[in-house]
Parts: sequence; C-alpha cells; structure tokens
Amino acid sequence: MLSGSSSSRRVLVLYVGGTIGMKKNAKGSLEPCPNYLTQEMNNMQELKPSASSAVAQFEVKEYETLLDSSDMNHRDHLRIANDVAKHYEAYDGFLIAHGTDTMHYTATALSFLLFNLAKPVIVTGAMVPLAEPFNDARRNLILSLMIASNPSICEVCVFFNDSLFRGNRCNKVRHNYAAFESTNYPALGVMEGSQFVLRERLLLPQPTGAMQVCSRLDGKVACLHVVPDNELPTILPAILKEGTLEGLVLVVPGVGKLHGALAETLRPIAAFASQQKVVVALVVQDLRGTLQPSEEARLRRTLGDTVVYVGDMTPTSAEVKLSYLIGKRRPDGRCALSYEKIRSTMTSNLRGELTPSGGPMPSL
Ligand code: ASP
Repeated sequence: MLSGSSSSRRVLVLYVGGTIGMKKNAKGSLEPCPNYLTQEMNNMQELKPSASSAVAQFEVKEYETLLDSSDMNHRDHLRIANDVAKHYEAYDGFLIAHGTDTMHYTATALSFLLFNLAKPVIVTGAMVPLAEPFNDARRNLILSLMIASNPSICEVCVFFNDSLFRGNRCNKVRHNYAAFESTNYPALGVMEGSQFVLRERLLLPQPTGAMQVCSRLDGKVACLHVVPDNELPTILPAILKEGTLEGLVLVVPGVGKLHGALAETLRPIAAFASQQKVVVALVVQDLRGTLQPSEEARLRRTLGDTVVYVGDMTPTSAEVKLSYLIGKRRPDGRCALSYEKIRSTMTSNLRGELTPSGGPMPSL
C-alpha cells in the first residue's frame, strides 16, 4: 500500500503526447495542446505538496512535438529511455504520459531498454482528455503519480483504469476506460476502494548493477500473421534474400488450431529464414496464448529447430525483444550477440516478459 512518506520523493513526468493532454480546437476535434497538461497538473489540488500527502513532488517535461502514439517508432522509444537515463539519479520514479494506441508497445520497449532498472517507470494515458469535464485522465494521472514514487517497484508498468500491469505483458484490448489487460500475468496492483494494493510478490526483484540503456533497439524485425496456405512461402524468400531482415516473428492462430496445413505453410518459411541466419520466433495470437507442450512437440517435429518457441510472450514483446537483442551493436554496427545467443535468450526470462521454465534471470 502507498505510505504517507511519498511527499519527500521526486517523480519526473514526461509528457510524450496522446489524448490525455489534448484539447478541442475551434472545429471540435482533439489536438495536442502544448503546456496544457503541465499547467493543469501544477494546479491540481490533489497534487499539491503537503506533508501528509501520498503524492510525490513532481516536475513535468513536455516533448516539444507532442506525438500521437500511433506515429511512434523505436527511435521514439529509445529517446524516452535515454531521457529516463539522463534524469535517473535526480528522481525516485518516472511517469510517462502517453497515447493509448501503442502504450503497451512503448512500455515493452522501455522494459527491455532500461537494464537494471531499480525505480518505478509508470506509463499512463487516457481515453478521455483532462480538458473534458468527465474523464479518466485525472484519475489515471493522480494514481500513477502516487505509484511512481513507490520504492518497491523496479520495473516498467502500465497503469490504467485502476490496475497496474507489467508493461511487457499487457495489450490494448478495447476502446473504453478498461482499454488494457494483461492476460498471461496477473495485475501487479489494483485499487480496492480508496486504497491501492500492490501485490509485492508479483514484482520483479531489485537489481544489483547500475541502470543503463544497452541497445539501439534497431534490429530489423518483421512480424507476420501466418494462416495456412497463404502466399508467404513464395513471397518471403524474396524479402529474406535482400538480406535486410534480421529477425522474424511469426504469429500463428490460437492454441488448439495448429494442425497440418499451418505447419506446412510455416516449414518453408522457417527453413529458409534459418538458412539465412534470420532468427525466427513463433508466438500464438490468442491473448491468453501459449503453446501447450504437446502442440510445441508437434510443431517441433515439423519445424525442428528452425524457429524458437517463445512461450507465453505477447507478439509485441517477442518483436520488441528481438529488436532489442539484435540492436545490441558493436561500434561497427554488427550485432554483438551471435545467432545462437539471440535464439537462446529469446526463450529466457529477461524482464518478466515470459513465464520461465526455471533458472535465474540472465543479465542482458
Ligand atoms: N491516438 C491517440 C494516441 O495513441 C489515442 C490516445 O491517446 O488514446 O496517441
């Protein structure tokens, strides 16, 4: 639970963009409004410093161009990670105010980029902006700010609609206040009445080394939804031959539907990609998807070791993790990790993104 000592702690709020700080223009459409979120947060009574307050002191920094999250890419994710790193020592926690469309994507990218993170990084947004009389922005901001000063949290989370999720486990699943869900891992915390209850046993452990950003997140990775008999087996070799692709995530239909025709479609793709030393990760598209051992065994008989089976990771996590691992570059731009190392690390738990089959977390 949140204690009363938060007011001596400091949180940096980075307003990156999205609906949360938008206002209606003369034509009635929402658009980003520079400085509006900063001013409103600085004026909110609930966020005024007071000795008994559970809210930390905070400072808001807005990005000079407020981004719609549907326009964001890995360069933007890297920029946010570097901004957290730049201010890491000066603050006890970080709140990223962000658009909802790709909030889970950014949270996933930050979770990998911020190696040895020992402070909370909470990503939030809103379906209805702060400027509207009835909105979720106000509640999401206030509660996220409280949570962002909690020293027990050493990971990147999404806070939305009264629930705290591990960033790399959640997805945007609908277009209303309950927009986010984490289906393969429980919520890390929830509001119960007026109390926020943090489930400490679910959190990642405190790391020991120094926090650092250690990837360029620039692996050239494609993510493809595969259905039986589509044109991929003929199209993909041409793309792979160009030599620009470094990783491939194949998203297959949900658990229970992995029968022969699908495996036959996958086989030529996976064989060709592995020949080219392109790491291929296989995930299921079900929100609650994970390959059952019997299904994995069946696929292995057809595909052998040409693909890596990445358990219950979300497709977003698989894609971002691959890009993160490949993006660990030497100064000459070549990947610092071998093909085999990337393959084995894809199946290891780095940041709580997959349910481990045992063993300690590797330091990557
Ligand atoms: N398109 C907006 C964004 O993702 C939607 C939102 O913020 O909810 O930036």
